[in-house]
Amino acid sequence: MSPATFDEIAIIGIGLIGSSLARAARETGAATKVSLYDANEEVRSTASRLGLGHVCDDLKSVCQSADCVLLCVPVGAIEATMQEIAPYLKPASIITDVGSVKESALTAMQAHCPAHVHLIPGHPIAGTEKSGPEAGFASLFRGAWHILTPIPKQGEAYNGAVDRLAAFWERLGARVEIMDAARHDRVLAITSHLPHLIAYNIVSTAYDMESVGEGEVVKYSAGGFRDFTRIAASDPTMWRDVFLNNKDAVLETLGRFSEDLAALQRAIRWGDGDTLMREFERARGIRKAIIEAGQDTDETNFGRNTPDKND
Ligand code: NAP
Repeated sequence: MSPATFDEIAIIGIGLIGSSLARAARETGAATKVSLYDANEEVRSTASRLGLGHVCDDLKSVCQSADCVLLCVPVGAIEATMQEIAPYLKPASIITDVGSVKESALTAMQAHCPAHVHLIPGHPIAGTEKSGPEAGFASLFRGAWHILTPIPKQGEAYNGAVDRLAAFWERLGARVEIMDAARHDRVLAITSHLPHLIAYNIVSTAYDMESVGEGEVVKYSAGGFRDFTRIAASDPTMWRDVFLNNKDAVLETLGRFSEDLAALQRAIRWGDGDTLMREFERARGIRKAIIEAGQDTDETNFGRNTPDKND
């Protein structure tokens, strides 16, 4: 095995992403030592039981000797965590995060980051609807994009740190892309944040409808609705923080979405089958392009074992 990218990494927040990182870093040899910390004592003892690495009981011990500190906490907890760890960070170490929103994460971390460390925000485009240390797995990042949003014009040492962090993620199996933080937030608003908002909304609407009293929504849930319920099972804290922190991009995208939805509504009302066909065929083409780009598979029923009988 080639030498580790980092001698020691510190993972703060041992949930789905943090525990997957710990597993992947150990399995691939990307870090010689993996130290972990979580604010929740029960999560710390689960992480110890799972053998995820060297579990610490405080923030100072987890990060004081780390070459790279990875904040894997909800977006809303990034600023307070950064403020607490700032005095303990080793000179020339790297501090990064995995938050799903990048402009607010950068502002939050920059407010407290000491000048002697390299701050490089990041976001793995990988995840599931599950949370907690037991939900993580080593192959989560394999083949997935990892977006880094470095601060521009920082000089040679900083650029070297960006290359090193990119090499670390590549070793975990990710494909690294460099992007401006604001652009990241606009892109993710449509590809990830809006779909989650729609899923939360459609599931609540269905449950508010009167047939729910008779259990019909659950009993007759068709494939389309079940896919939404899977997305809507995602962690509420994480998603509350995403919407509060990517407000402008999400509202702009939601405006466009509402206009397009109104056009479909009009086409249904006036029996305009041509418009419906045109829009549905265009959407089908986009699905094909996603499969061709290797972002999903073409398996029937998304690879599920049981066929949907209720679609
Ligand atoms: P998770 O499974 O809920 O894990 C987060 C962990 O952080 C929990 O154990 C939580 O403890 C702990 N925590 C909360 N505040 C903390 C603090 N101040 N200090 C230390 N630990 C703290 O969440 P996740 O899915 O791994 O998400 C973590 C980050 O990854 C988020 O920023 C999210 O935006 C990003 N992300 C998630 C996904 C995804 O699909 N899930 C994908 C890409 C990026 P408690 O449970 O006690 O609160």
